[in-house]
Amino acid sequence: MLDFSLSEEHEDFRKVLKEFSDRELLPNYLANSATTEFPFATLKKMGDLGVLGIGFPERFGGTGEDDPVLLGLATETLAYGDVNLASAPIQVGLVGAQLLHGSDEVQQAYLPRVIAGEINLAIALTEPGSGSDASALRTTATRVPGGWRLSGEKTAISWALSATAALVYAREPGSSRSKGVSCFLVDLASEGVSVRHMRGMGCLVLGWGSINLDSVFVPDSHLVGEEGRGFQVAMNKFDFSRAALGLMCLGAAQQSLEEAAVYATQRETFGKPLSEYQGVTFPLAEHATYVEGARWVCYRALWLRGEGKSHTSLASMGKWWGPLVAKEAIEASMKIFGNLGYSAEFPLQQRFRDVMAYLTADGTAEIQKTIISREIIARGTVSL
Ligand SMILES: Cc1cc2nc3c(=O)[nH]c(=O)nc-3n(C[C@H](O)[C@H](O)[C@H](O)COP(=O)(O)OP(=O)(O)OC[C@H]3O[C@@H](n4cnc5c(N)ncnc54)[C@H](O)[C@@H]3O)c2cc1C
Repeated sequence: MLDFSLSEEHEDFRKVLKEFSDRELLPNYLANSATTEFPFATLKKMGDLGVLGIGFPERFGGTGEDDPVLLGLATETLAYGDVNLASAPIQVGLVGAQLLHGSDEVQQAYLPRVIAGEINLAIALTEPGSGSDASALRTTATRVPGGWRLSGEKTAISWALSATAALVYAREPGSSRSKGVSCFLVDLASEGVSVRHMRGMGCLVLGWGSINLDSVFVPDSHLVGEEGRGFQVAMNKFDFSRAALGLMCLGAAQQSLEEAAVYATQRETFGKPLSEYQGVTFPLAEHATYVEGARWVCYRALWLRGEGKSHTSLASMGKWWGPLVAKEAIEASMKIFGNLGYSAEFPLQQRFRDVMAYLTADGTAEIQKTIISREIIARGTVSL
């Protein structure tokens, strides 16, 4: 039986987050987006709401039960207010899921604090010579007594400026492709680490940057997962984040369309409100339709994950289509606002620039389409 309704528990959580989003995030979105100073006080409030601990064991301050749909709902709802800070639950979900493969020492030291919203952690996979082709990474991890020494450069890393530590993927010298890659939790205050800001067209508050590692010592206890199998663990986790990132962008798009719908009733041209012209309202209707379609692709992927069923294709569909649909919906909303849509005083242009990040971050559209088409060809059918 088909049932698209949210549970009472989901609906209640959504209401709490929407109220938080309207009260705390939306009024501060432009100010927070204009700085690399990370608003830890706001992150702490998100931690207090439980939004950073979805699916994590209660002993670390998490909600206990794995619930990918709830994570999607959370990020979508927070993105109405601030699409940048809305990525925090996804980031914690990704980093935290990998830390659960780490030593007790690492779990105890980092999981409670990241779930409480006290610290940020980054994921450092991309390098100057390897992005889509992530397994071509060159950073090395050389065995030394008591641990490893890591050397290499990671680039385009979100949260680099505000993170306390980063999950760093590095290979055994002489290994190739995905074999021999391990994952390490590297304290960014360690000797030999230098972080440099990279200025993007949006997402300033996410502190995008490069992380240089010059023979950085990492103790045995900071290996995350099995030695030589770090790559497999990382790739498996991206499935849920792809659908959730789609929803996050769509949340920003929904807010933009709603702002445009209100504005269309207020602004008059030629003696009538804009809402009287189909040239204005039809784009609203069209983009609302695309947004709704893309939302359900993402939610179905997350629901399948929660059921323990295959969802890789759908997650990739949500990842390439969600941000694209969102970007176009925001652009259409900007158009309805006329000159004000271009104004830096209004959030629309900021959302447009922030959402653009997810056309590339966490895997480009071309990589998602490669994953989807590979599955279609292997199955011999497009039906999922
Ligand atoms: C805002 C932002 C935040 C990011 N945050 C992080 C982060 O926190 N951690 C991290 O590790 N990385 C992060 N990244 C890096 C991101 O994951 C990579 O940029 C992305 O995977 C693409 O890699 P690339 O930039 O090297 O492009 P390339 O891999 O060089 O690709 C360039 C172009 O070629 C296309 N292309 C490549 N191969 C193929 C192919 N086989 N078929 C068809 N087309 C292809 C790509 O789709 C793209 O359009 C972030 C990037 C951005 C923009």
